Amino acid sequence: MTKDVQEKAIRQDAESEDAYSRQRAYGRRDFLKWAGLSVAAASLLGEDTPTGAQTAASTPEETLASLPRYDRMEPIIDVHMHAVENRLEGLKGTHPEAGLPVADVAARFQAILRESGTGLLFGMGAVNGGTSDPLGLKATLTLAERIPELRVIGIIDPRQRDKAYLKAVEAQIERERGKLVAFKAYLGYLNAYPADRGYQPYYRLAAQYGLPVVFHTGDVYSTKGLLKYAHPLGIDEVAVAYPKVQFVLAHFGCPWYWDATEMLWKNDNVWADLSGQLVTSSAEAFRKTGQLPPWFTHGLVPAMESTGYDRILYGSDYPVCPMALYRWAMEKVIPPDQHAKVFRENAAKLFQVPVQRAFASGTGSA
Ligand SMILES: [Zn+2]
Repeated sequence: MTKDVQEKAIRQDAESEDAYSRQRAYGRRDFLKWAGLSVAAASLLGEDTPTGAQTAASTPEETLASLPRYDRMEPIIDVHMHAVENRLEGLKGTHPEAGLPVADVAARFQAILRESGTGLLFGMGAVNGGTSDPLGLKATLTLAERIPELRVIGIIDPRQRDKAYLKAVEAQIERERGKLVAFKAYLGYLNAYPADRGYQPYYRLAAQYGLPVVFHTGDVYSTKGLLKYAHPLGIDEVAVAYPKVQFVLAHFGCPWYWDATEMLWKNDNVWADLSGQLVTSSAEAFRKTGQLPPWFTHGLVPAMESTGYDRILYGSDYPVCPMALYRWAMEKVIPPDQHAKVFRENAAKLFQVPVQRAFASGTGSA
């Protein structure tokens, strides 16, 4: 059964990822595609066929075969991925697992975890869960019943700040403490600054329960989102106001890397995650050409060298990129002597989760 499901999943991925069949070296168009602008916009800007070295198309199976056997290595912790739809208004694209039976999704994830050597993963919740599911955890928790490696991050919504709602939030924290590892604030998707009064009660809960708060920072992949709310500078105010709460800049503020760097320099309670730096097409182009995109060479890599690696966390942002391919790309740009910290130890320390020494499930069932 799992084999069939996996093969179907791979085919669906291949169909949805036109990048696999039309891969080219980087051009400005790739950046625009990555940044969420349309190809039409690229042509308006005068960008036509990319001129770099052309590379042959690969199937997802071929890509996987070219990567190391991660299932034989020490498992990593992925602090930022999406196991379910997050239901954000204006978000482009749909989740590849949306609508599939839970058992099939679980089987797909077991295969993905093995091939990427992921021992623990944190799935983002969804918005608009209502008072019965105020942090939007339910769909991810349903999966977690079948995927023991999966933990959940609750979505905090600044529009929901009346007493009854906050009481429901606290009750849900109490109920799900074993699986809930952090809060996430969508800033430039829900269009509120980190210091918005609607977030304040959630920071107090974060302090009370020792939950880190992850902020979406940087580029917004939505027709409704506003970038001004997602700038890393906004985190300074809350990092100072809540010194006992740990804050994470998801996406390292991409492409505001230096602003994110300053947040980490100044505030000891600010961390950054590496999710969302590449999508499937740009990761594949890197794998095939060895050529890093300009926002890495001029932004992310010098930013990481400047902050050091003690508060940098690995996250794949699946399904934006296949987990194994993303792990490979990030291992290439992080010095090998920092891998243990970035891929495991920093996350274990921040989120107080165990460093997995072996896979909890799924060995040899495929
Ligand atoms: Zn994400």
